[in-house]
Amino acid sequence: MTWTVRQVLQWTAGHLSQSGSDTGRLDAELLLGQALGLDRIQLYMDPDRPLSGAEREAYRELVRARANGSPVAHLAGQREFWSLPIGVTPEALIPRPDTETLVERALARLPAEEPVRVLDLGTGTGCIAAALARERPGAQVDAVEIDPPAAAVARSNIERLGLTDRVAVLEGDWLGPVAGRRYGLIVANPPYVAESDPLLDTGDVAAEPRAALAAGPDGLDGHRAILAGAPEHLEAGGWLLVEIGWDQGPAVRTLAEEAGLTEVGIHPDLGGRDRVVEGHRPGTARGDRVPMS
Ligand code: GLN
Repeated sequence: MTWTVRQVLQWTAGHLSQSGSDTGRLDAELLLGQALGLDRIQLYMDPDRPLSGAEREAYRELVRARANGSPVAHLAGQREFWSLPIGVTPEALIPRPDTETLVERALARLPAEEPVRVLDLGTGTGCIAAALARERPGAQVDAVEIDPPAAAVARSNIERLGLTDRVAVLEGDWLGPVAGRRYGLIVANPPYVAESDPLLDTGDVAAEPRAALAAGPDGLDGHRAILAGAPEHLEAGGWLLVEIGWDQGPAVRTLAEEAGLTEVGIHPDLGGRDRVVEGHRPGTARGDRVPMS
């Protein structure tokens, strides 16, 4: 019997949903696209395309692994972020659409063309650093990652996207590798889940590196470390932006204000939940050069 794209998609979407995926149809499309070497649009344009035996076998393997709990991004080896293909392994956090809110806010704070130094703390796959470098030709980005395997993922992404001349991946703990350097903008998506949160053992998240997700009893250990150390690395007038969990806005705002940042604001993601806290180091970049009278 011949199976077509339409038929296998319909069957697998239902099968994966029953196996516990919230996104059965999308998973099926991404995995079939991978097995056939096509993108989702091409699948839609040719729904009656028959699958060969070898294609069916390749697809069956992927579907089996997905039903057993592997995230699609791990099976595909990549995930799209800010319209860029970002390589993913189990050693780095899978890029989330929520984090595009952080990129958007950061772009709003970055000059369009002029040179600017940017620091991305806890870069993971390097997705934020890559998106900012792509959007801002004047940006020189330092991307810090403590976990060597994750840093290797970031480096390979930066290479594949042709950004090695403007993005450096540095290994170390938060601000350790950038002693003495200052930046016009510092950005971070640190871990921010409370370590007792059952989310950490639920669904796809359970297959991701815990160190990229969990941050102490209240999930704020990363934010405390960043806000204690980052402001002195900001140029006068520079901005710090951090991603947060939906209920962490007030606590992180307080940390930012205690760190001496001003114009502290909380911004929602596309779902309307608080997602980004930003603050500003007082002064203007050119303030030193303004005559006194
Ligand atoms: N938003 C992520 C999640 O809930 C958490 C990401 C993070 O800790 N930086 O899966």
